[in-house]
Amino acid sequence: MSDFPRRVKIVEVGPRDGLQNESSILSTEVKARYIELLLQSGLKTVEATSFVRKEKIPQMGDASILYPEVKKLNAKYGAAIPCLVPNTIGLENAINVGVKEIAIFTATSNQFNQKNINATIDGSFERLSKVAAVARSNKMKIRAYVSTVFGCPYEGETSLETLEEVVTRLVDLGAYEISLGDTIGVGHPLLVRKVLERLCSKFDKKLFAMHFHDTYGMALVNAMTSLEYGISTFDSSSAGLGGCPYAQGATGNVATEDLLYLFDKLGIETGVDMTKLMQAGEYILSHMPNRTSASRVYQALSNKKTN
Ligand code: MG
Repeated sequence: MSDFPRRVKIVEVGPRDGLQNESSILSTEVKARYIELLLQSGLKTVEATSFVRKEKIPQMGDASILYPEVKKLNAKYGAAIPCLVPNTIGLENAINVGVKEIAIFTATSNQFNQKNINATIDGSFERLSKVAAVARSNKMKIRAYVSTVFGCPYEGETSLETLEEVVTRLVDLGAYEISLGDTIGVGHPLLVRKVLERLCSKFDKKLFAMHFHDTYGMALVNAMTSLEYGISTFDSSSAGLGGCPYAQGATGNVATEDLLYLFDKLGIETGVDMTKLMQAGEYILSHMPNRTSASRVYQALSNKKTN
């Protein structure tokens, strides 16, 4: 517990990772307002969108229009607004609208990568090295996602050797932060310990962000375990938006409200205001028919308000 951080950074991924896995297609205006409300809550990193082909993910098809809107709204907040970029075409589109930080992605599993991006791990790095080279020459910050860190729907448990190798290669590409994704939510505290024992013995713990999904209700206990290793960056989505197209019944990202409640109770600073965060979630859900908040904390606090 000696490394328990006093302050943590929450990386809000609702507008990208959350919405891209939701079936309702939202207007650019609604997405921009959602991001504005998230910024108002005090979040200092909000992943806005993905510069991916519209045919692949229609929800993200307006990235080149949305980003300039968000940039204007962010002028008074000065938050980091990373955007996902799958390839050099996406990167060019991102550069054209002034994106300063990109997120790149791969996985520890060849089969998962093959289904997701039609490439092996090595094949993904061929693409990523081109993207990263252009990003570095444009002085862009690079964040990296690693999927299937705690298990893969096709290959089962991840080998720590493979994970370490993938992380090393991402560091070599210039990634300043690496988000360790529990893509199908199968992580549990012993596995988190195993992964962090290995990675924190080889790399600075500040390099890592944890990206948990709450499929089996393990996200918060996994976050708690990560805090014990001194990890101080966590990805989450407001209202628990999202899902996983590769795992039947998998829930979305851990809800930001739930993480925030845990951090608040532990006396860890986040700079985020719960009431305003809940308003952002309420706003986006009001535009999504048949969708309710996946956040337990949201449900508890809003019931308290009405009863
Ligand atoms: Mg996710």
